[in-house]
Formats: sequence, C-alpha cells, structure tokens
Amino acid sequence: MISFYPGPSKLYPEVASWLQQAYKEGIMSVNHRSAEFVALSQDTISLLKEKLNIPADYSVFYTSSATECWEIITQSFIRKQSLHIYNGAFGEKWYEYSKKINLNSAGIDFNVEKLPEVKIKIFKETEVLCLTQNETSNGTQLNDTTINGFKERFPELLVAIDATSSMAGINLNFNSADIWFASVQKCFGLPAGMALLICSPKAMKRAFQINDRRRYNSILFMYDKMKEWQTPYTPNVLNIYLLNKVLRHISSIKGTHDMIVARSAEWYKFLSGAKRLSALISNPEVRSNTVISVKGDEGTISLIKEAVKKEGFILGNGYGKWARTTFRIANFPAHEEQDIVALKTLLLNYL
Ligand SMILES: *Cc1c(COP(=O)(O)O)cnc(C)c1O
Repeated sequence: MISFYPGPSKLYPEVASWLQQAYKEGIMSVNHRSAEFVALSQDTISLLKEKLNIPADYSVFYTSSATECWEIITQSFIRKQSLHIYNGAFGEKWYEYSKKINLNSAGIDFNVEKLPEVKIKIFKETEVLCLTQNETSNGTQLNDTTINGFKERFPELLVAIDATSSMAGINLNFNSADIWFASVQKCFGLPAGMALLICSPKAMKRAFQINDRRRYNSILFMYDKMKEWQTPYTPNVLNIYLLNKVLRHISSIKGTHDMIVARSAEWYKFLSGAKRLSALISNPEVRSNTVISVKGDEGTISLIKEAVKKEGFILGNGYGKWARTTFRIANFPAHEEQDIVALKTLLLNYL
C-alpha cells in the first residue's frame, strides 16, 4: 500500500533497512543517559539545524506529538492568554486545548480563501499569537510575508507556529517566528510517535520569566536536560535514530522545497482540467504545497477512494464539514515520482 494520507503517510523506503540496522546496533535497548544516546542526540540536533536552516541559537526539544507541543506552549510560555488565528480544524483544536488550560485564550477565525488580516486588534493580556502554517484539514497555508507581518506588527509578543504538515517539506524561515513545532509522521517520512519543538532565544527568555517547572514537560525542565542532549523522560530513541538517518539521507531543504512546489503546481494543474473534481481551495495564494484538498460530489469522492485503494493507494479522508465531499492528497518528500504518476493515471478515469 502506498499512503498519500497527509499523515501518517508513506515512509522513506529506506526506513525498512534502517530499522534492521537499529536492531543490530542495539539502539533500541540503549539507555537514554548513556554516552551513546547523548552522541546520537547531539548529532541529530546539529543535523536538523543544518538541513532545515534553523538558526544556531534556537533550542530544539524532542516531544511525543504536535498535540503535546500545543500543551507545552500553553503551560510554559503563557500566563494568561494566547490569541489563536485559524481557518481550520487543527488551528481550532489548538485553540480549544489552550482554552482548557488558560480560560482567557482567544480565537479569531478567517476565511479559507483568504490570508488572515495582520492588522488585528489584540487584547491587553495577549502573550502569544498562535498560527498554523499549513492547515492540514483543508489544504491552506500561510506565506512568509504574513508570518513576518505578524512578527513585525507585534514585536512584544511571541509568535508560535504549528508547521506539522510542512516542516522538512518546504523551506520555512525560522527567524520569522519564536516557536515552531512539527511531528515526524508528515513531511519527515517517519513513523508516528515523536515531534520537534523549536524555540528562539526570545521564547526561552520569556519561559524563564514565567518559570513554569511544575510538569514533566515544562520547557525549563526540558531545557535543563537538553543541556546534556537528554530529555526528562525516556524518549523515542528509535525515532531519534531514524530521524538522524533521514536527515543524512535528504538533501538541502531548498532542493526539497523546489521539488514540492513544482509537484504541487502539477497537482493543481491536473485538477484544473477536471470536470468532476476540483481543488477545494480556489485562491492559488493560499493553497497548500504539501496537502492538496480535492472536492467533488459525494458519490465521486467515495468511488475514487475505493477504486484507488483496490490498486494499492490510500487517499486522505476529508475533514469536518468536508468529510464526504473532499479527499486529501499528501505531497510529501517521501513520495516518489513513480507513485505520483501511478496515482494520477488512476485518477484520470474520474476526472
Ligand atoms: C497532524 C497534525 C497535528 C497533530 O499531530 P500529532 O502528532 O498527532 O499530535 C497538529 N497540527 C497539524 C497542523 C497537523 O497536521
């Protein structure tokens, strides 16, 4: 089966042999306080910074999921209020989770066909602006100009970005926000069960002012451990090992970015010629490069999903109100040209 689900998705095929290697090398039994682990962790973080162009003075942490990152941000970087600007289910879920912890958390939703308004009014108590760079549920994305715009307009705030379905796929400008996170089952082409949380010096300074140390995953507790390249709890050592292998395997993010952008343009062109299907989002300025949402009538959508499944391909279900009238196609770096050609050949029967 080749999964085009936007996460978990197709793995890099090399994962099969890396797993064998991990077993032989005994990495799955390695103690997380050992010199062996420390060397692996340090090397992985330095590779991550190099391959994704993350500024040297940013801190990187291993977490278990993007969902955990939502919670860490709410607990360790916010005393009273975050402001969530969202247009889809993941951004909204982040807002809902935050509200349970900080009752004052606020939200502004925006139209899926538009970029969010940067000239918003914030509240007196707003401390962090929360944005979703790539909204996986509907296939929209924020561009650099918009993210930078928020940072420039609100220099006193932290800007936190959920980049779960774009990090390692497109070239993110890490300088344009203070907190970034992503789990590895999307563009990293790895099995689920780990995420990365990336913080600017400004974000860490703020965390020290707040000084939350009450939880196993308080950022300062994690920071103390990370000085020795370790974690408060036993981390997903196997996934750290696989991440190390993937990072060695992939080329520069600029090359990957160009490939992903070119492939997404081909997907949208492919859909623009169709009669029974179309892109869910019509504004090219906000369409995602890594998640292509495709709209059609209910019958056609379910027919296609079943037909391609019989041929060994998995498409992503639609989300929320578009559950039955859309499917989603992941355009992640681990997808190979031959997979895409084969899927398009099948889809040609239903255009
Ligand atoms: C997949 C996804 C998440 C959730 O990731 P988990 O690792 O399951 O917590 C959060 N945000 C976005 C944008 C996603 O695509």
